[in-house]
Amino acid sequence: MRTLWLRFYASLNDFLPTRWKQRTFKVGFLGQPTVRELLVQLNVPPPEVALILAEGRPVSFEYRPGEGERLSFYPIFYCLLPSQPLHTLPPERPPRFLLDTHLGRLARYLRMLGFDAEHLSDPDPGDAALAQRAGHDGRVLLTRDRRLLARKAVRYGYFVRATAPRAQLAEVLDRFALHDLINPFSRCMCCNVPLRPVAAETVADQLPPGIRAQHAEFYRCPACQRIYWEGSHHARMQRLIDQVVRGNSC
Ligand SMILES: [Zn+2]
Repeated sequence: MRTLWLRFYASLNDFLPTRWKQRTFKVGFLGQPTVRELLVQLNVPPPEVALILAEGRPVSFEYRPGEGERLSFYPIFYCLLPSQPLHTLPPERPPRFLLDTHLGRLARYLRMLGFDAEHLSDPDPGDAALAQRAGHDGRVLLTRDRRLLARKAVRYGYFVRATAPRAQLAEVLDRFALHDLINPFSRCMCCNVPLRPVAAETVADQLPPGIRAQHAEFYRCPACQRIYWEGSHHARMQRLIDQVVRGNSC
């Protein structure tokens, strides 16, 4: 049995019951758990924890705290240059994402803004395969399932708080500081593959009547061969981008 004093900072409080938010609290654990094990018991996803201090010194997820120790947990702060080693290093920029089965709309929105957002839903790959895929590919796993983020295979992950797809998009843009990296209409919304410019004359016979004359630039998805041009969902998508991005500008 270990009695520990714990304090969680900033967004990590989202995972705690109200009585433990924003304060130091005492809690008992059976045995001599590692930091990682106690996080999982508290239902706090380890990939959201960037820095752990035990009595003021940085420790790893495998550290086993002693009786009565004080532990502090910090999330990733993109706006801070950390002086301490981080466990969950911010991934490459722009980050590549893998989305949980239930986040299909969010995946399409992220692709619409040009981000690499893989989504495996048919057939459902299952939690173990999703975690392995994200860890192996170095992708950030986006999910609303904390148990999925507790799997050891996951290196980078984020629990999406919002439930509505537009709010989820705004949240992810904000959380990963993506506003400066938006490159709309550069990726196929269906396949997640970058679009390639294509000469109008080569696709003229595949376009609806009148489109060829009205537009100069066309793009094609090399995977599904779908053709994109300004006007194909463009106005609707531009409105969505304006709403989401403007609503969350720093
Ligand atoms: Zn495609």
